[in-house]
Amino acid sequence: MKPVIALVGRPNVGKSTLFNRLTRSRDALVADLPGLTRDRHYGEGRLGERPFLVVDTGGFEPVAKEGIMFQMALQTKQAVAEADIVVFLVDGRQGLTPHDKTITDFLRKTGRPVLLVVNKSEGMRYTAVVSDFYELGMGDPYVISAAHGDGVHDLVEEALDKA
Ligand code: GDP
Ligand code: MG
Repeated sequence: MKPVIALVGRPNVGKSTLFNRLTRSRDALVADLPGLTRDRHYGEGRLGERPFLVVDTGGFEPVAKEGIMFQMALQTKQAVAEADIVVFLVDGRQGLTPHDKTITDFLRKTGRPVLLVVNKSEGMRYTAVVSDFYELGMGDPYVISAAHGDGVHDLVEEALDKA
């Protein structure tokens, strides 16, 4: 079985940008994955010789009680439950938000291994990018730019080692 990496985070942090970079093409969508629900956004990536699956869980809205947002939250929960490792993206330009804390609480309850990843870091000083996020209690964040590719290789390597 290929390890499954789930990309989780509030809207606009760069999940789909990272997904596209990891899978490199929309054609990489996986049509037939035994045991995995198909209505989420799956793709296949590769780090050297190591293949992996990546899930873009767009639309995490844990506060909704019904409707489409509730359905999307359910899908995200299912994706996290199926993941070998969760990549939790936050936005280094916007800084920490209450929504990030809600997601942190949810992820902690699932017990899945999580890598905290600060995106949109290009052109910013490391300390300025990460300082906000230590209070989430998830250790040293990884710092990447999904748009430019900085740090993405190291992140995937770490994710596969922990998966
Ligand atoms: P999603 O809602 O989490 O899937 O986020 P998207 O991937 O759609 O990205 C939201 C916005 O952030 C888009 O305008 C992206 O171009 C931008 N974005 C994504 N990654 C980066 C990055 O590394 N640096 C910067 N500056 N912008 C980014
Ligand atoms: Mg998206």
